[in-house]
Amino acid sequence: MFDSLNPLPADPILGLMAAHRSDSNPRKIDLGVGVYKDEQGNTPVMRAVKSAEARLLADQTSKSYVSPAGLATFNTLIASLVLGDELTKTLGDRRVTFQTPGGCGGLRLAAEFIQKVRPASKILVSDPTWANHVPLLGEAGLQIETYPYYDHKNHGIRFDAMMERLSKAAAGDLVLLHGCCHNPCGADLSNEQWQAVAELAQTNGFTPFIDLAYQGLGDGLAEDSYGVRLLAEKLPELIVVSSCSKNFGLYRERTGSLTVIAGSSEAARASASQIAATARAIYSMPPDHGASVVAEILADDTLNSDWELELTEVRERINGLRSALVTELDRQGIDRDFSFIEQEKGMFSFLGLSVDQVQTLINQYSIYLVDSSRINIAGINSSNIEYLAQSIAEAVKR
Ligand code: PMP
Repeated sequence: MFDSLNPLPADPILGLMAAHRSDSNPRKIDLGVGVYKDEQGNTPVMRAVKSAEARLLADQTSKSYVSPAGLATFNTLIASLVLGDELTKTLGDRRVTFQTPGGCGGLRLAAEFIQKVRPASKILVSDPTWANHVPLLGEAGLQIETYPYYDHKNHGIRFDAMMERLSKAAAGDLVLLHGCCHNPCGADLSNEQWQAVAELAQTNGFTPFIDLAYQGLGDGLAEDSYGVRLLAEKLPELIVVSSCSKNFGLYRERTGSLTVIAGSSEAARASASQIAATARAIYSMPPDHGASVVAEILADDTLNSDWELELTEVRERINGLRSALVTELDRQGIDRDFSFIEQEKGMFSFLGLSVDQVQTLINQYSIYLVDSSRINIAGINSSNIEYLAQSIAEAVKR
């Protein structure tokens, strides 16, 4: 059965990680993989997570099965985190939330659910989008098309072109939107642009599908879910997937959620039964630990405040690094405007370098980034920023 198989090409980011690991240059920098890193280059366990884990270890009395929907308390609390308390209350039984194995599990569960309800539905994704959106949605059977999004030349959103393409989407089509901190480009819709998208969805009847993987890493927990909340308030139907990988630092615990908002409580109930059957057929039930930790934190005022405080530190560090990088690049006297880096949000931005310039950074300076010149801002720190800016300047001037 396996004799005729050929290995697939290696994943470029994993390849970069391996090359970085084996590089002996003490000045090497890893700007490739998308995990948060602190000033020391570590990806720490958050304080509130440690405390919640200690409580769980002491108090948990059973490891018995939960359910395909996961932990009910997690689902209620995460819905409130994403949608806000008021709106969650207003939506009532029109909303159903499922705990999922990370954001990836949520995206795939949603795609499998849609495929069941309306096979081969068209889903429009931004150009560019996170590379993993394509297999996660496409391999479930959805037909992927793109809408224009990032303008690499002017470092902004091609909003008119985006709206022009979305105006051709019809009822039954889905439109994938990044809730905040767009991966890979860092350019987010303004509140006015979200309003225009909401109006277009109301007129044309397409269903927005929001991937919220970085809530709290852009401008704040509520600010980053402006678009989600607006669309949830205005539209009859919405799909939202959220991830706790970045904002709770729970990457390997695989913690996320899928929320479906339907036009009526009957439609929501029917959706929930279909989603439960879909989850059952893929992985039966999501892993518990991360969701239990999140539920413990969100339900406890002290843990919740400490988590929000640490998340604010993370966000401010990222935003501070964005400003510092622009300042350092300016100091190098490069004849280019990098100020867009400061306007963009979250962990990623494109530096706007050619593949040759990226290869120069890797081969001559041991600075590891993907060919598109997307960098993980959190890989920068006060001891490598000057070397990074100098190296970029040298690569650009060649
Ligand atoms: N969506 C986007 C845009 C992401 O960048 C990520 C993580 N890199 C995810 C979803 C899913 O993350 P996870 O499965 O680790 O929760």
